[in-house]
Amino acid sequence: MSKTYKITLLPGDGIGPEVIAESVKLLDALTERFDFSFEYTEALAGGAAIDAANDPMPQATIDVCKASDAVLLGAMGGPKWDHHTGAMRPEFGLMKIRKELNVFANLRPVSIPKALADSSPLRPEGVAGVDLLTVRELTGGIYFGQPRGNDGKEGFNTMRYSVMEIERVARVAFEWARKRRNKVTSVDKSNVLEVSRLWRDTVKELHKKEFSDVELDHMYIDNATMQMVINPRQFDVILTGNIFGDILSDTSATLGGSLGLLPSASLGEKYGLFEPVHGSAPDIAGQGKANPIAMILSTAMMLNFLGEAKAAAAIRNGFEAALKQPLRTGDLCTKGNTLASTSEMGDLIRNETLKNI
Ligand code: NAD
Repeated sequence: MSKTYKITLLPGDGIGPEVIAESVKLLDALTERFDFSFEYTEALAGGAAIDAANDPMPQATIDVCKASDAVLLGAMGGPKWDHHTGAMRPEFGLMKIRKELNVFANLRPVSIPKALADSSPLRPEGVAGVDLLTVRELTGGIYFGQPRGNDGKEGFNTMRYSVMEIERVARVAFEWARKRRNKVTSVDKSNVLEVSRLWRDTVKELHKKEFSDVELDHMYIDNATMQMVINPRQFDVILTGNIFGDILSDTSATLGGSLGLLPSASLGEKYGLFEPVHGSAPDIAGQGKANPIAMILSTAMMLNFLGEAKAAAAIRNGFEAALKQPLRTGDLCTKGNTLASTSEMGDLIRNETLKNI
């Protein structure tokens, strides 16, 4: 029997609406080939929600997300709302929805197909074939810890993790490693921070008790950032906390030459939120210049989460087939390529996806 999935769309700000439109076109095209359909509900988030409802994450949006099978999110924020502070910032809306859905594990895969190795700012032979997955803790750490504040003379935040928070995200990383190349690198700053000491001890203990078949090593965040640039192929699964994961996964984004390539899935026990790693890119918003690939690959991750692995694989194959052609959006367009708009790139990937089913 044909399934209908309820999908909440949170286009948000800047290039968010432009890239999410390409995902919807692709999903609709897939319904003609697979035995499923989608029922979309669009809801306000980020700056757009501040403008319309004076709240970056209105309760109505949270309710719609919780009533759906999955959430697709574009991006939130931009200079228009930069004067807002605290709970009125668009980025606060993003953190609120992650917390409300309790999506504590953020999965950020980076794989560099050969066709993209030349776009990397690093040597192509160093990045070709990179295939790594960062598992970032998303609902704890310094982004959420109390106390926090800024009284104009002193600003402070608190990095906190409990054993429970560390164990549940570490479990996700170990389980993914078993499905990949069986190696986890846990990244912390345990030479300086007590919270990182607990992180490392907890990961070691869990490894001993439940995952001793997986290879485990530990790295300090400063070294890990350097290793990401000089030898990224050494990584399989990287497990890390919220702020370190934020920085390290953006560093991993440089490997492919553009933030516009990187998808992510934020998962908890019940909900799934799928969003590109990039932000709202105000410098190119509204000009048809955004690369839709990160959003499209996030959509493939959503289909996997929904149990539609064949459709997810079709998108990935379509993406790789599209890269064999010279069409590229501006962020990746180098000598020998033809410049494509957001929708031209979306069309190409959609056509290649359908061809390869
Ligand atoms: P950004 O990711 O928006 O942009 C960084 C650079 O990458 C820009 O030059 C941009 O043009 C380019 N870029 C990003 N995505 C691209 C794409 N799909 N195609 C082509 N080029 C792309 O980061 P920023 O400039 O630091 O932040 C802009 C706004 O987005 C800020 O308000 C920030 O807080 C917000 N932000 C939101 C999220 C999110 O919603 N998940 C994440 C990061 C930043």
